[in-house]
Amino acid sequence: MDLKTFINNYSPDLESISENPNFELQVLIAHHLGKSRSWVLAHLDEPLSDEMINNLALDVDRLTRGVPLPYILGKWEFFGHQFFVTPQVLIPRPETEQMVEKALDWITIHPETRWVWDVGTGSGCIAVSLALACPQLKIVATDISISALRVAQKNIYLHHVAERVFLIQTDLLPALANPPDIICANLPYVSSEDLKSLEIAEKEPLIALDGGEDGLAIYRRLLEQLASRATAPHFLLCEIDPYQIYGLDKVLERYFPFSRRQVFLDLSGFERVYTVEFSEMRKQ
Ligand code: GLN
Repeated sequence: MDLKTFINNYSPDLESISENPNFELQVLIAHHLGKSRSWVLAHLDEPLSDEMINNLALDVDRLTRGVPLPYILGKWEFFGHQFFVTPQVLIPRPETEQMVEKALDWITIHPETRWVWDVGTGSGCIAVSLALACPQLKIVATDISISALRVAQKNIYLHHVAERVFLIQTDLLPALANPPDIICANLPYVSSEDLKSLEIAEKEPLIALDGGEDGLAIYRRLLEQLASRATAPHFLLCEIDPYQIYGLDKVLERYFPFSRRQVFLDLSGFERVYTVEFSEMRKQ
């Protein structure tokens, strides 16, 4: 059987679970053959061995049972880099690249930026992408989940940034006295209600998604923890759902009334990155 026939035979099996079955099959074949997807596209008449067909069919079966492709591959791309992923971490999303972009924009305007905290790092994709983009940065990446930190650790070694990215297991902020210049936080922000109807909730770690009743429970705690510190960072970036802006504004007003917030759209046009510039003034 050649590649093209395999794709044609198995594509209908995936139609109910995938928007683009051919793409998923091409990526899967490329992974098994150790080639790129463009190689697969250019060699559709290459024959597949029986062993390869069996192995591929097993993975197609996992796909049809709803296992996300990145977990089958064990890796996924984010911000132009490959990252290890396991079911213990959220699959890196394209919309999260916007947070990295916005952090880099800030760093371009503030070239003195040195320290970044990435709170709730998961696979470590934000921390590693920032470290790779800016050699001057030092990054503390935290997560409450030790199994997520193990994945982040692998990614830090994969990308040779272990000398500048430090992992700490903690619930949100690390117990470090000096505040960083920037905090990035892609914390769980799906409301418990939305989680019930969300397919990904059955596949990806709930601890990385569940933001409590209104989805803001963890961000509320983050701002509370920040406000209890003697000094605030200069800049905070949070990934959110558009409908949470008003709620988060309320929290911000309570803890940091003199701060300046902005919201940026993701590439699909949704308000996704909520940023805060802190002022030295505080409400007493
Ligand atoms: N963007 C994710 C989703 O909606 C949520 C990620 C998060 O909670 N941080 O699927």
